[in-house]
Amino acid sequence: MLKLRTLQELKDWRAGLDPTTSVGFVPTMGALHQGHASLLRTSVQECQVSIASIFVNPLQFNEGSDFKRYPRTEDEDCQLLAEFGMDAVYLPTREDIYPDGYECRVRPGPGGELYEGYHRPGHFEGMMTVVLKLFQRVQPHRAYFGEKDAQQLWLVKRMAQDLDLNLLVCGCETVREKDGLALSSRNAFLTAQQRSESVIVYQALCATRELFRSGVHELPRLNQMLTQTLQKYEQTEIEYAEVIDDRTFRPAEVGNPGPWRALVAVRMGETRLIDNMLLGTA
Ligand code: AMP
Repeated sequence: MLKLRTLQELKDWRAGLDPTTSVGFVPTMGALHQGHASLLRTSVQECQVSIASIFVNPLQFNEGSDFKRYPRTEDEDCQLLAEFGMDAVYLPTREDIYPDGYECRVRPGPGGELYEGYHRPGHFEGMMTVVLKLFQRVQPHRAYFGEKDAQQLWLVKRMAQDLDLNLLVCGCETVREKDGLALSSRNAFLTAQQRSESVIVYQALCATRELFRSGVHELPRLNQMLTQTLQKYEQTEIEYAEVIDDRTFRPAEVGNPGPWRALVAVRMGETRLIDNMLLGTA
């Protein structure tokens, strides 16, 4: 597997590919786990050539401490990428992406204002900026993102459509631990007690989906189920827990069939966990 460290190396590699070759792209921040693996696997299956990127993007961290402590495991990551049959990885430096004098930002529309957008000011602007830059550089035909970060996936799809990007944004199912906790690089920061209590997030989503499937489509009852289940442990601080309209990424409304999605962010000590689950059409 090729390791491309500069824009020039990436450009040379890309220019060397036959124009008819389909290129799949998996952007990541490294610290790869089995959640990322599902994106890599899909790209390798669907495209003739696959490339990943590893870049811990300072622009999308709204807490300096979170950026500093974000795990960096380049050697292990590259080994995993090679095992999954990736053809190349792009490992740019901060200066390569944001050279001196860099100023521009991509601003999300209203679909990026609530939930993660509200609780992590600037996060989506930073994410969309780097994703657009990476798309411009890699020129992929398909790009793979996890449904775990549902609002991110929604915004990248929106950006591809609104800004006429000539590529397909593909969502991949959330990969979970046996007890349902969604895999995340940040799970490593949970204490043993937090780890055992963290299962409540998945349980709250499942309970809400069960209620929805049983025919209850009253939003106060669905939202109450989500919130009440999350309140089981004292240490869990809810940032948001709401049923949303998956088409607009705004709160679900009676009379709009959706599909609806249950969305959760909690804090357990220093660690933030986010997760979501599609409920269905109301
Ligand atoms: P990150 O490195 O955390 O920025 O994640 C890179 C990509 O992997 C994003 O598109 C995430 O949504 C996706 N991802 C992270 N965790 C999971 C998971 N548990 N299941 C599926 N995709 C995931």
